[in-house]
Amino acid sequence: MPDIIHLLPEYLANQIAAGEVVQRPASVVKELLENAVDAGATQVQLIVKEAGKQLVQVVDNGAGMSPTDARMSLERHATSKIRSTEDLFRIRTLGFRGEALASIAAVAQVEIRTKQREYDTGTLLLVEGSQVTSQQPTACPDGTSIAVKNLFFNVPARRNFLKSNAVEMRHILDEFQHVALANPQVAFSLYQNELEVFGLPAGKLSQRIVALLGNGYKEQLAACEEVTHSIAVKGFVGKPESSKKSRGDQFFFVNNRFIRSAYLNHAVLAAYEGLLARDTHPFYVLFLELDPKAIDINVHPTKTEIKFEDEKTVYAVVRAAVKQSLGLHNIAPSLDFDGDVNFAPIRPLRTGKGTGLVPTEADDHLPAATAADRAASSDGYRPDALAASAAAAPRRPRPACQQGHRASPALIPIPAATATSASCRRVLPSRPAGSWKLSTASWASP
Ligand code: ADP
Ligand code: MG
Repeated sequence: MPDIIHLLPEYLANQIAAGEVVQRPASVVKELLENAVDAGATQVQLIVKEAGKQLVQVVDNGAGMSPTDARMSLERHATSKIRSTEDLFRIRTLGFRGEALASIAAVAQVEIRTKQREYDTGTLLLVEGSQVTSQQPTACPDGTSIAVKNLFFNVPARRNFLKSNAVEMRHILDEFQHVALANPQVAFSLYQNELEVFGLPAGKLSQRIVALLGNGYKEQLAACEEVTHSIAVKGFVGKPESSKKSRGDQFFFVNNRFIRSAYLNHAVLAAYEGLLARDTHPFYVLFLELDPKAIDINVHPTKTEIKFEDEKTVYAVVRAAVKQSLGLHNIAPSLDFDGDVNFAPIRPLRTGKGTGLVPTEADDHLPAATAADRAASSDGYRPDALAASAAAAPRRPRPACQQGHRASPALIPIPAATATSASCRRVLPSRPAGSWKLSTASWASP
């Protein structure tokens, strides 16, 4: 009998690998945004057309790539972020597998323009279904623009599996939200079918929350900060009266990576015990910092689930932190740490003002947020942008639980199907005068 085993051609191996990384346009959004952040960008622009089915483009002003690196970045297992096994256990970047660009390039037409500051010219690379069709020097700004066109053009079965534009756009907005919340120091904008729907200036976390999720949160944020020898928890939780019928705005980040965790969600809910109206869900944006050695981010291919070495301690600290924060805001009795569960003694980062804990941002976030709000309400909000981009989306009634969930519905003349949790808000504090404006024209894909 003849031998029957053979090596798969590279394009096919890449297509198979792409199945893990690229499920839908939102997967591309996540990978490209994370790469931009990893590259140290301070301004990031996301451009989508047809809910990402036609185009997902991310333009950043980060480090850029040399001509050779630009070509290398498309190889599978090609990364600048790890070199050794030890590196795996001290990862601070969002990417590290070196799979994303190779996977995306296997199932789309990709155009990369990139330039490092010290070079006079940049590089333009065209790739289609893993085949590099052109590489040439080009004039372009510092940083990187990656345009991903016609996702799954060569895998029709997968393209057919994509959902409606409204659904795909909601997934994109979720990814945008996660990256934008985790990086308030970076300015982000989002263009949907050439209309700007978000323009988020760099600022503090509290400002980012309000700009992204709505002015309604301005008075509702309770700062949360707790530091032990093994874990730091920081962020904001919503006052109990701001809890919602829908479960939308709950975010955990571990070492700045968005994660889902029913276990930690339970810890937060435990802290709210007795404070929430029946069947309502509190708001939270919580950042956990741990030694990377104490977590395993490899358990899930898309890296939204992680394993903690000592999850009981993490649970206890999160619960205590939220309880403490609610107590500080005179919402619940302050926690008696001596009497609390079995974790290491909590040593706050800073103490003072007789409270025991001094939240870093809470001290000043409200006035600042007010300034951002003023900007948002004067000229930042673009209902027309959302309305126009939503016009093509099929209309379907909005679930009752979502109605009136966000900022004033009167300001939001968009159909429910596209009015995802992220889009149906007053958004877009306009850019401060003289601030950045990456030229869409110079980058725009034909
Ligand atoms: P990973 O992020 O896991 O390393 P990717 O396939 O996403 O893998 O990217 C491969 C490499 O390409 C990265 O390690 C990085 O060096 C480079 N790269 C990707 N995107 C950018 C960008 N926007 N700016 C600069 N370098 C980038
Ligand atoms: Mg990456």
